Amino acid sequence: MKTEEFQILAGELEKLTPRPRNILADRLREIGHIQAVNTLVENRVVEKPACPSCGHKHVSRWGSASGLQRYRCGSCNATFNALTGTPLARLRHKEKWLEYTQQMAEGQSVRKSAKVCEVHRNTAFRWRHRFLALPNEQKATSLVGIAEADETFFLESFKGKKRGMVRSPRKRGGKASKRGLSDEQIPELICRDRMGSTVDFVLDKADKEHIGAALKPILASDAILCTDSGKALGAAAREMGIAHRPVNLAAGVRVIAKVYYVQNVNAYDSRLKEWMRRFHGVATHYLANFLGWRRLIDCAHGTLSPSAVLLAALGMTPVQQLKVT
Ligand SMILES: [Zn+2]
Repeated sequence: MKTEEFQILAGELEKLTPRPRNILADRLREIGHIQAVNTLVENRVVEKPACPSCGHKHVSRWGSASGLQRYRCGSCNATFNALTGTPLARLRHKEKWLEYTQQMAEGQSVRKSAKVCEVHRNTAFRWRHRFLALPNEQKATSLVGIAEADETFFLESFKGKKRGMVRSPRKRGGKASKRGLSDEQIPELICRDRMGSTVDFVLDKADKEHIGAALKPILASDAILCTDSGKALGAAAREMGIAHRPVNLAAGVRVIAKVYYVQNVNAYDSRLKEWMRRFHGVATHYLANFLGWRRLIDCAHGTLSPSAVLLAALGMTPVQQLKVT
């Protein structure tokens, strides 16, 4: 826009009465949010765009739509943009995404997020799991040196499911009907190394087979696994041929040889449990998404930004994010 044109527009704005002025101010804010989101989203493909249909690297710029650069694949002719093939493709109300990811960075409930972003609760719920689909998979791919593992349990929940219930729903999280561990307890396995790399798994069963299957691809062969001397973890370590240092907490032992302990993983578990309380029971089906959400918050050490949540939702790991932000 030319300077004179802009001055005329600015002059016209002075004539506005409060109502249209407020509408305009809202619209300008929305445009600002959409542009901020588009800039972040474009980070995904700026370096080396590849066709999401066939993976071909020969792509050319092909106009733009909705503020995003379009590309066309030189091999299969498919056109795409930076959102194509991500969980956020075709998600509406882009002007609210950063407000929503702010809510996620704070670990807010669906009800609170819906209220702040002025969207329906069902929308806030649907968005939550769209934004969490990829962070859930962004676990460490290898743990090295001394690693600490711990099992924890969450009560099985059919929250939100009306059909196919095997028992009547508990209210607001509730308590198990049986004492101790039972089929109602869903096992999770958390493992961290001393660099802070973290993996988590929702297991079908907390036995050596399931633990071994989860940890074997991730633990370096010369890693040393510290556990709280639970039988299944020890058996899994033996089966994997990984050195194991059981720390017998029950017998009052906390540290062996000054370096073998499970305080890191136990503290992580406590923070996870404490944080999960606010959700009053999480549907078992979504448990892995919540573990990924918590990992995202925990690994940012209290500095998780709305932009970082958005980039994580697009599949960017914290290391990849460092390169573009
Ligand atoms: Zn293609």
